[in-house]
Amino acid sequence: MSSSPSARPASARHPDRLPEAEGASPAMAQWFAAKAAHPDALLFFRLGDFFELFFADAEAAAEALDIALTYRGEHRGERIPMCGVPAHSHESYLARLIRRGFRVAICEQMETPEEAKRRKAPTIRREVVRLVTPGTVTEETLLEAARPAWLLALAPARDGRLGAAWLDISTGAFETELVSEGELGALLARLEPAEVLAPASLAAHPALAAGPRPTEATVPRDAIRRVAEAFGVVALEGFGEFAEAELAAAAMALDYVRVTQRGALPRLARPVPRGGLGVLQMDAATRRSLEILRSERGGPRDCLLGAVDRTVTAAGARLLAARLASPLAETGPIAARHDAVEALLADAGLRGAVRAALKGAPDMARALARLSLDRFAPRDLAAIRDGLTRASEIAAALAASGGLAPLPPLLAEAARALRPASDPAPELARALAETLPARLDDPGIVAAGYDGQLDGLRRLRDDARGAIAALQRDLAQAWGVASLKIRHHQQFGYLAEVPSAAGETLLRKPPAEATGEFAPIHRQTMANVQRFTCAALAGLDRRLAEAAQGAAQREKHILRHLRETVLAAAPGIAEAAEALAELDVHAAAAEIAAEDDWCRPEITERPDFHVTAGRHPVVTAALKRNRGGAFVPNDCDLSPGGRLCLLTGPNMAGKSTFLRQNALMVVLAQAGMFVPADAARIGLVDRLFSRVGAADDIAGGRSTFMVEMAETAAILNQAGPRSLVVLDEVGRGTATWDGLAIAWAALEALHDRSRCRTIFATHFHELTALAGKLPELRPATMRVREWKGEVVFLHSVAPGVAERSWGLHVAKLAGVPRAVLARATQVLAALEERARGLDPLSDELPLFARPASGGGAAGDASRSAPPPAHPALDALADLDLDALSPREALDALYRLRAMLEGAVADAPAGLGSPE
Ligand code: ADP
Ligand code: MG
Repeated sequence: MSSSPSARPASARHPDRLPEAEGASPAMAQWFAAKAAHPDALLFFRLGDFFELFFADAEAAAEALDIALTYRGEHRGERIPMCGVPAHSHESYLARLIRRGFRVAICEQMETPEEAKRRKAPTIRREVVRLVTPGTVTEETLLEAARPAWLLALAPARDGRLGAAWLDISTGAFETELVSEGELGALLARLEPAEVLAPASLAAHPALAAGPRPTEATVPRDAIRRVAEAFGVVALEGFGEFAEAELAAAAMALDYVRVTQRGALPRLARPVPRGGLGVLQMDAATRRSLEILRSERGGPRDCLLGAVDRTVTAAGARLLAARLASPLAETGPIAARHDAVEALLADAGLRGAVRAALKGAPDMARALARLSLDRFAPRDLAAIRDGLTRASEIAAALAASGGLAPLPPLLAEAARALRPASDPAPELARALAETLPARLDDPGIVAAGYDGQLDGLRRLRDDARGAIAALQRDLAQAWGVASLKIRHHQQFGYLAEVPSAAGETLLRKPPAEATGEFAPIHRQTMANVQRFTCAALAGLDRRLAEAAQGAAQREKHILRHLRETVLAAAPGIAEAAEALAELDVHAAAAEIAAEDDWCRPEITERPDFHVTAGRHPVVTAALKRNRGGAFVPNDCDLSPGGRLCLLTGPNMAGKSTFLRQNALMVVLAQAGMFVPADAARIGLVDRLFSRVGAADDIAGGRSTFMVEMAETAAILNQAGPRSLVVLDEVGRGTATWDGLAIAWAALEALHDRSRCRTIFATHFHELTALAGKLPELRPATMRVREWKGEVVFLHSVAPGVAERSWGLHVAKLAGVPRAVLARATQVLAALEERARGLDPLSDELPLFARPASGGGAAGDASRSAPPPAHPALDALADLDLDALSPREALDALYRLRAMLEGAVADAPAGLGSPE
């Protein structure tokens, strides 16, 4: 769900605008009581065929739904604002409100008007039966098929960390983790929760303030007991190791689900503590810059998921999204996934069979959730039947192939899970009618022949229908009215209808045969017809109503039985559903590998990184779609001895694409997919960082340079020898000098201290002076060629340094007027003339001395020609970067900049224009 701040609704709570309840009509008094219990929610108040909203709720909903605001009666002398939606189609309106971030309380009629009358009650009894919130929906119309709908609960731990628990009631998934406060942003970016529960004390946390308003919740005291109770166990040790705060968060989430579902808990998997599992760490900025699950500017196909998703089921798509959002960081489990993909890639026949059987397979996990909450439709039973049928087809295909060569463990496991020990599918197949009605209240869900008693009741009902047709003939004869018709009326049941004149005759002078059972009893006079009944018709009507009612009751009973049968087998069904999703993901990975010639990456424990002929999956797909020519594959070698790649080249040459394709290679490989390359050897990455220089992030609309520096600081503080860092034009968000200074210092720090694998794209050509000084640094450049005065981008990466920046050529390509270009050429020549012999970054005039602090700075002495005496440089050298918080780093930068600005006036001219 989008978390843009504009989606944040005005609170539904307007206590000052809610009038006193006193003096309300009986129904409105119920409304006031329900609203008082749910002040944060819009109240959907059932009145006959509509759900109505009143007062401020009505105003908010009318605006959000773009429906008419009307008024209904008065309350304490003021008109009552009202709007309403039809009950039969209320789900689509609910969906729109939930997507806008509202919560909705559903207040239903709990009895019929007749029942109320019998009790002599002033109005029908109504109750809030459910609270619908973004994180607790189960309806198909309210859910995104391919996205999990996480409800995330947060509970502070005593040591300042946060317990997090997230569950998806639409599938039953449930996980927990203990995170530091600083990691909260990354967790939110990874999960993209539909709704966050947090105590008031956390509401102001910056990571939460950016998204939709969290739902306030209190942290329960007896968390362990609550969680244990929910799963019917006495101790939780068997589930894994949890921190206290993780369990507190889990209990918070469970409590909240209970409240929203009016006490009922859906079927949930046991909570899984995720902290122990090795996952690739990526922060929010990295995810944004790599566009993993969504693209900032482009459409749905312009993100990694959109470009590589070949899954054919919604559950498979959800699992793939979860894996790309959370790749692994352990070689064993990654290799197990690659084994599965490899087997399905090698056996195209098996892959085709699996995918064909998966295609159109229903979403069993979500159907199961609706069944467990007793909020299901007939099609949910059919989904279990069809899903299990597909599962056994796939199991058969796997068994057949396993006979030839043993299946890799993940596939073998999935094959086992596809055949649950107790399988309700055969019974469902016998029980369900071929075409199912949409709603549970409609008759005809259970197939004929499944239940003798139901068949008997239906026969009775059908016989009575036949008897009515016969009675119509008899009555027409007895009453002497050939045009007599027996019709059913909502209120009176079956009545015999005759033209008015005939009706008059019947009333005044009934024919001789119209006696006894057939004696006419007048019921209604209409404009053209009169309606009668008689003892025979009334008797038949009663029999028919009884038979129909009996059949309906029997059908309800059977449906309850079927639901219980399914729920008794729920654990096995859930496992089969997971196995289907898992197979879908592996088969899809094999499919794209076959389609686009991807390779199996070799994942090692060494700090390797060697990609041969790598491609960017999104750009490749976009070029193919737009017939924009072929993508030029590029190698990338960051193996020891050349850990740092310093990439130069003009704008539009392909620098950013190269950076991202190599970062994405890690995401794909560690998520368990093959990669778009001819060969890839990747040393396990523990943390992945990707940053885009501020000027490239204008669309983000943030205070750019400040953000850029805070993010750079985060990398310098966190990246280690197993990390991969791609930095795109860092330092370009500020004036040339400090930008260059920062880029320079950051590059040195990455080289000496972080010792991580790095690709660093820059337009500061001065940085290439570092090539001879940092032993691990390898300069590379995007090749361009000049052809008849035009620049031609070759999109290929070559060792070395860009000879020139081609800025004016790119300006020409972009359509800058000829006169301006001519003038710029003159200015450039003059600037180059002045700069000649003034290369301040050459060895003779080292502008920067590397700080001696930190490990690995061997060789400093050889380079330490006396530094020029600018105080800013001394100050920079004195900074202990390892000890700085992001905030302190930023302050230090501002101080440095202030010192430098004092010096700009005396700066040599050559430094002013790197491009
Ligand atoms: P830079 O960062 O150097 O300005 P980009 O990486 O943004 O350049 O690339 C600009 C455009 O060039 C891309 O949108 C893409 O269309 C094209 N491009 C980049 N790399 C390649 C490549 N390897 N093969 C083909 N086209 C490419
Ligand atoms: Mg770029």
